[in-house]
Amino acid sequence: MFDVAIVGYGPAGQVAAALLGQAGLQVYACDRLAEVYRIPRAVALDHEILRVFQQLGVEAAIRPWCEPFTPSEYYGVDGRLIRRMTMVAPPYPQGYTPSMVFTQPEVERVLRERVAQMARVRVELGVEMRRITQDEHGVQLEIESAEGRLTQVQAKYAIACDGGSSTVRTQFDMPLEDLDFDEPWLVVDVLVNEQGLAKLPAVSVQYCEPDRPCTLVIGPKNHRRWEISLKPGEDPQQAAAPAATWQHLARWLTPADGTLWRQASYRFHALVAAQWRRGRVFLAGDAAHMQPPFLGQGMCQGVRDAANLSWKLAAVLHGEVQAAAAEALLDSYGVERKAHVRELTSRIKAVGAVICERDPARARARDERLLAECGGVVKDTPRQDLLPALSQGLLSRHAHAARGQLFPQPWIAAEGGRRHLDEVFGNGWRLVLAAGTPVPAAAKALPGLRVLRSEELNETEGVLAAWFGKNELAGALVRPDNYVFGVAPGADQAGALVEEAAAALGLI
Ligand SMILES: Cc1cc2nc3c(=O)[nH]c(=O)nc-3n(C[C@H](O)[C@H](O)[C@H](O)COP(=O)(O)OP(=O)(O)OC[C@H]3O[C@@H](n4cnc5c(N)ncnc54)[C@H](O)[C@@H]3O)c2cc1C
Repeated sequence: MFDVAIVGYGPAGQVAAALLGQAGLQVYACDRLAEVYRIPRAVALDHEILRVFQQLGVEAAIRPWCEPFTPSEYYGVDGRLIRRMTMVAPPYPQGYTPSMVFTQPEVERVLRERVAQMARVRVELGVEMRRITQDEHGVQLEIESAEGRLTQVQAKYAIACDGGSSTVRTQFDMPLEDLDFDEPWLVVDVLVNEQGLAKLPAVSVQYCEPDRPCTLVIGPKNHRRWEISLKPGEDPQQAAAPAATWQHLARWLTPADGTLWRQASYRFHALVAAQWRRGRVFLAGDAAHMQPPFLGQGMCQGVRDAANLSWKLAAVLHGEVQAAAAEALLDSYGVERKAHVRELTSRIKAVGAVICERDPARARARDERLLAECGGVVKDTPRQDLLPALSQGLLSRHAHAARGQLFPQPWIAAEGGRRHLDEVFGNGWRLVLAAGTPVPAAAKALPGLRVLRSEELNETEGVLAAWFGKNELAGALVRPDNYVFGVAPGADQAGALVEEAAAALGLI
């Protein structure tokens, strides 16, 4: 019997398989496609995702397929600049450029190569998961090979990473909540030649034009992405025919300026699963949620799901939590991720509402309002400022602005250069103490806890010191997925914080 079976081997399934395999678990993963889906869908990712890739040891291998995301300039009705989305300024809080564009199929290949090195992970491609059932002992999957042969796979738990039309979600009759966004858009990827590149803006652009809102993203190398809204009555199939697509692009390019890589019409939705867990089965990635693409978060959310669930499953399967606390720990996955997805989706929809205003009078009013809000001078808005913290779940009961945040990853001085914090100290539970905070005796309450004292870390850019200073903290307890469980405003609260986490895991 496998520890965990993963249905669907897209980005969410790959990251889950890699993290669980790295944790030493016996993992089965399958996909009906025989190869990586060759068409890029996601084009942007965040530093948080690079930190997960770093944990998996693949960050250097994916680097050639990534480039910094250019600013996104929003232009209003009369072509006036009304907003500029950028990224947070250096020194970077996670140790990486905060927003990147990337080539999805190549990054997926790198993830798969990493998993292929893991002897305990079995991946079957070109097979279909037909039926899933569960009882109190485990989950049974019926797998059909390309030749129609049926085999059974058994696992203690299963993760449905099988995309937006998830078979698992459907078979367990797990409903989606509609977050009220449904629009047809044409998405076009072009490999642009030198002559074409000379005609295009150097930054990404949101054309907030009521007649036809659209987006231009500067992808890696010569990859450029257009997302073009379709009007009522326009046939999405026809819009995606090559000649019609070039007509849509005529404002920027002619067919002599590049090659269509792909074009497809999509309905952009905002949906979230009502429940993320049914017994031993969990939903993750697009199977659990879908959001409009305006902040490039769909795949990022799937990676966050995988990172959140993997350490909890590993802790339960390795017996690192008391049996009585295991169910609550596994339940916290859906509680945390659903609230985060709902909040981020509402922020994405607000960005979309700015871009998608079709009424000319209201669009003009929008432009005036945005310009009035910044006193007529457009300021930079870092994309990262729109990403919410965790607000509920396995968190300290003591509320604080820093609780549930992604903990920073400073660079640490090391022999021959500098290294990222996680490279040096790993990704388990960490109690990080600000300069001068003594190590609490209660640190022993959480087995395997690493205690990091700021004054001994030799951070090179002051990211951690600035974070502690800004939040006025003596310490922070960081979970294995790098989110802050809770904080100690005073040195004497650090011990109680560790005890609170240990109690939540049933360890004291
Ligand atoms: C136009 C567009 C632009 C986007 N831009 C961005 C962006 O910039 N940034 C971002 O983060 N995200 C973006 N996204 C979203 C992102 O592409 C998706 O969220 C992400 O690919 C979903 O990953 P996943 O692993 O959850 O699902 P998928 O990639 O859909 O993988 C699901 C897998 O499950 C397999 N499968 C399904 N059923 C079965 C079965 N019964 N048996 C076996 N295998 C099965 C499928 O073959 C598939 O390989 C965009 C999406 C679109 C459409």
